[in-house]
Amino acid sequence: MSAWPNAAGSTLAPEPGDAQPTTAPEVATVDTRRIGVLALQGAFARHVEALARCGCDAVEVRTAEQLENCDALVLPGGESTTMSMLLERSGLRQPLAARLGQGLPVFGTCAGMILLAESISDGRPDQEPFRAIDIDVRRNGYGRQVDSFEADINVAGLDDGPFRAVFIRAPVVTRVGPSVDVLAEVDDDPVLCRMGSITVASFHPELTDDDRLHRLFLQSL
Ligand code: GLN
Repeated sequence: MSAWPNAAGSTLAPEPGDAQPTTAPEVATVDTRRIGVLALQGAFARHVEALARCGCDAVEVRTAEQLENCDALVLPGGESTTMSMLLERSGLRQPLAARLGQGLPVFGTCAGMILLAESISDGRPDQEPFRAIDIDVRRNGYGRQVDSFEADINVAGLDDGPFRAVFIRAPVVTRVGPSVDVLAEVDDDPVLCRMGSITVASFHPELTDDDRLHRLFLQSL
């Protein structure tokens, strides 16, 4: 069981006719923040599970109305070109760009990192990034022969051992702006970066049972 009961599962509210407690009731701590996961395409389901395990109200986001109700958002891995197209078609692109401009905290992983970058190389010519974090990326930058690999990475802010990072046709970060903090590297390439309310990973943190990066993101809200 999660240490933080989900708000939706909470049964703390008294029903009419309940006996009045004679002493103050013990109030469980409930994380009421609603964290959306963009669910147009790609690896969104495991992010929802990870966030729910962290105790917050995790919801799939496919419409502008659903985005409106979120306190933060995860942009999952998948295929950034397809996701860019579906963002246009679903009418989510403009509302998401507006929320990013207002400082919406976002955790972008793999394709999600590509969408948030300042510029993309080897993308589709019509693929417009949100320019929410001052990094440049190259799609599929780790090359065919190492399309997928795993690495134990040391993450600034995680003191209890390395994090097993799963890279799948991952982007390479080719430039990092001066206001970006690099939180982890593989072979001198940044793989986890943060600028203000935006965190990006070139790997898939949702594919292991280790929720520490989701918790680190939630702590930053
Ligand atoms: N190569 C994919 C892209 O360009 C990203 C891969 C992933 O998200 N695992 O969008």
